[in-house]
Amino acid sequence: MTTSEVSGLDLPRPGETPPSFHVVAKPSGAACNIDCTYCFFLSKEALYPDGGQRMSDATLEAYIRQLLESHRTDDVTIAWQGGEPTLMGLDFFRRANELVAEYRRPNQRVQQTFQTNGIALDDAWCAFLKENRFLVGLSIDGPRELHDAYRVTRSGKGTFDLVLSGWHQLRDHQVDVNILCAVNAANQLHGRRIYRFFRDELGATWMQFIPIVERATPATIAVANAGWRPRPDAARLLYTQTGDLVTDRSVGSRQYGRFLIDIFEDWVRRDVGKVFVQQFDVTLEAHFGRHVLCAHAPTCGFCPALEYNGDLYVCDHYVEPGFRLGNIRERHMLGMVASPEMRKFGDDKRGALTKQCRACNVRPFCNGGCPKDRFLESRDGEPGQNYLCEGFYEFFSHVRPAMHVMASLLQHNQPPARVMEWMAAADAGRSRNDPCSCNSGRKFKKCHGRVQ
Ligand code: SF4
Ligand code: SF4
Repeated sequence: MTTSEVSGLDLPRPGETPPSFHVVAKPSGAACNIDCTYCFFLSKEALYPDGGQRMSDATLEAYIRQLLESHRTDDVTIAWQGGEPTLMGLDFFRRANELVAEYRRPNQRVQQTFQTNGIALDDAWCAFLKENRFLVGLSIDGPRELHDAYRVTRSGKGTFDLVLSGWHQLRDHQVDVNILCAVNAANQLHGRRIYRFFRDELGATWMQFIPIVERATPATIAVANAGWRPRPDAARLLYTQTGDLVTDRSVGSRQYGRFLIDIFEDWVRRDVGKVFVQQFDVTLEAHFGRHVLCAHAPTCGFCPALEYNGDLYVCDHYVEPGFRLGNIRERHMLGMVASPEMRKFGDDKRGALTKQCRACNVRPFCNGGCPKDRFLESRDGEPGQNYLCEGFYEFFSHVRPAMHVMASLLQHNQPPARVMEWMAAADAGRSRNDPCSCNSGRKFKKCHGRVQ
């Protein structure tokens, strides 16, 4: 079937479809120019063993056209991810721009995002990204020794210098950059240090901290810990969301919560309104019933992943057999996003909440977290509790008072940054030898009360 045959004529009616959705497109499939030890995306090459993972012009055209005609909103996001999207070369993205210009309705505003490891970024790339107003996500896991723990080349060398070079190129060209830091076993105890490195040494103002949770079974855990390869020269095992074990590289549940609290306590004293941390923004939004991060939304199923060959999966974390919705060269993506399979996938997130989650007092902010991480038993022995539950509970409980203050300020048309005055008043009533407000167990003067 040709692209033209997959036309808007077979689309479901508007009442049956979402007005907008977010596709994560992987034009180079799982291909990457580095070999991060914790990256389960790399194993997805096993799904397409014929190799040559590269989106064709026909698939690109089908994608852009279907995405634009699917949206009933004026704002459309085109999200490029991988693998590593720079492997496609600049001409691919120039062609994507031509197709956007061709298929965009006059009222549509298109924002392109681009998640990269930064290794290949040079003058030409950065000039292109700036000129076309891309929002770039750059993966950095912290200062050198923390970043280099798992983000390595194929020969096992750290990539810190290469990534920093990419960062400076992006900054020189004034490209909008959001740092994506993967929180893992190596950096989980260093939240504040990492945050200050991004803020003070890099001058970053947008950042997000994503938990690394690599699942494994008793049969795969040894290979998983060794980097998902049975032998150094062998192909990686295909990663699937199975098993209730996690690799040595995975973040601990409580440690993830503590990591976020460590950063929050720094941020809420001096950076509100100047530095934007995704997890804090989405928690504040949740106070108004808006859920802008799928992991903490009541339902999901609006973020499908598009493989290089046009295969559409329910989510980037479920690119595996059993979760493929179809191929955009054979069926319009809107029909797949609105399909009963996709809606069931999204609604099951709420339907499968444990009794512990349903009774939880931070459930309106947490909503049980991402289904991929729900592989433990609840306190009542019910399956499906989130591996990160303990950390989520500690984080959402800890930040709630300050979030209430910010929400209240917003409701009174005041800037939420005034929460820093509330925090300063609380600090004024604290002795330097009091326990720190972050609950680390250290004295305030040696923890978040220390100015540096
Ligand atoms: S499965 Fe997780 S990552 Fe995927 S859409 Fe749902 S909440 Fe988001
Ligand atoms: S904190 Fe734990 S119990 Fe509460 S909603 Fe989140 S995952 Fe469920």
